[in-house]
Amino acid sequence: MASRASSGANSSRTRVGKYELGRTLGEGTFAKVKFARNVDTGENVAIKILDKEKVLKHKMISQIKREISTMKLIRHPNVIRMHEVMASKTKIYIVLEFVNGGELFDKIASSGRMKEDDARKYFQQLINTVDYCHSRGVFHRDLKPENLLLDASGNLKVSDFGLSALPQQVREDGLLHTTCGTPNYVAPEVINNKGYDGAKADLWSCGVILFVLMAGYLPFEDSNLVTLYKKIFKAEFTCPPWFSTSAKKLIKRILDPNTVTRIKISEVIENEWFKKGYKPPVFHSADVSLDDVDAVFSESGNSGNLVVERREEKPVTMNAFELISTSQGLNLGTLFEKQMQLVKRETRFASKRPANEIISKIEEVATPLGFDVKKKNYKMKLQGSKTGRKGHLSVATEVFEVAPSLYMVELRKSGGDTLEFHNFYNNITTGLKDIMWKAGEELK
Ligand code: ADP
Ligand code: MG
Repeated sequence: MASRASSGANSSRTRVGKYELGRTLGEGTFAKVKFARNVDTGENVAIKILDKEKVLKHKMISQIKREISTMKLIRHPNVIRMHEVMASKTKIYIVLEFVNGGELFDKIASSGRMKEDDARKYFQQLINTVDYCHSRGVFHRDLKPENLLLDASGNLKVSDFGLSALPQQVREDGLLHTTCGTPNYVAPEVINNKGYDGAKADLWSCGVILFVLMAGYLPFEDSNLVTLYKKIFKAEFTCPPWFSTSAKKLIKRILDPNTVTRIKISEVIENEWFKKGYKPPVFHSADVSLDDVDAVFSESGNSGNLVVERREEKPVTMNAFELISTSQGLNLGTLFEKQMQLVKRETRFASKRPANEIISKIEEVATPLGFDVKKKNYKMKLQGSKTGRKGHLSVATEVFEVAPSLYMVELRKSGGDTLEFHNFYNNITTGLKDIMWKAGEELK
């Protein structure tokens, strides 16, 4: 069993209701996602944690409640299941099916673009999923690589359906503003911000995703944001020569900036290129209670049924499953793709040096790169001093003990631009070479 390097007299595990929280799986713009275990059943889950005040204060609360309720009812095999919703005094917890096959785009990052047949398989799963959710009145509005995960059998699992109406994009004026995210996947009418049809906008994003799967790079890309927007508005892109003629035709019909002439999902499903080998999934609905959603989003602010987040005084162990779910990351070679924006927001390396030496070495290397370093036990927060494309780059670091005298060091982007994180990572690893351990060096 591995344990956090800080495990000792004062370490603890956090419990929320029947869930024991584990490591942070990822951090988005407005929420944190943590690994957790249901202590009653032993089931692994992912919990999305949101700031309650931000969620409840804004005007779209009834839409959010409706979409979350629908998501709890949806049992589509390619949609990440929503198990339950809980609230404490200050937070909302959305308990989700835990998916451990990584992100779909990791495949491209590690082995390059896909064969057309493979890309079509994922695209069929994606379109079927999106169409199904639309038919239930739920739109995604934020389809992007980070929300396309894979399960252990390599099936697509779309996350965050129905969650995009959450505060992330709703500013004071109460309108949806998705443009603060990665604009590369966003439809022109969404960037334009004039109110839009969620179904048409989602299909555009699916078109961009299909392009990336088959090309290995983005259709619209520019380091200058204004130029990038111009390219998106005019749908200025070129298909690489290896796309088949029928694939090119379909992509052109999807990436049509005019929402009136853009192909509809029902037409995509009838398209010859799309139909090849298409097997829509068969699944059944289930009886699901919505009492938890009602309790969390009740207008009255009724605070019954609140859970408390409490710490349990016992050594923190990283359970074996958690470890396996992350261990692919111990292999540095496949983690980064130098191309375009297909870079991970988190990475790990192994070290055989003592934990405090690792910490001080990171500090020693990060400081001259212009980072302010805050340390707390075996966690660190590195904050960039320069303002980048998306504000200051900040990086969270944590050291875990995976075996006696073998540590796993995790570097995770907690704010700022992914590309800048990639550059930061390249710089810092050059400085950390001495303390990095590569598998096979002296396997004991
Ligand atoms: P974003 O806004 O970028 O989608 P999220 O807060 O939704 O960020 O999630 C952050 C990261 O956490 C994701 O990119 C993904 O790697 C991980 N994650 C989210 N949901 C799950 C899940 N159900 N199972 C496993 N990992 C997840
Ligand atoms: Mg997400």
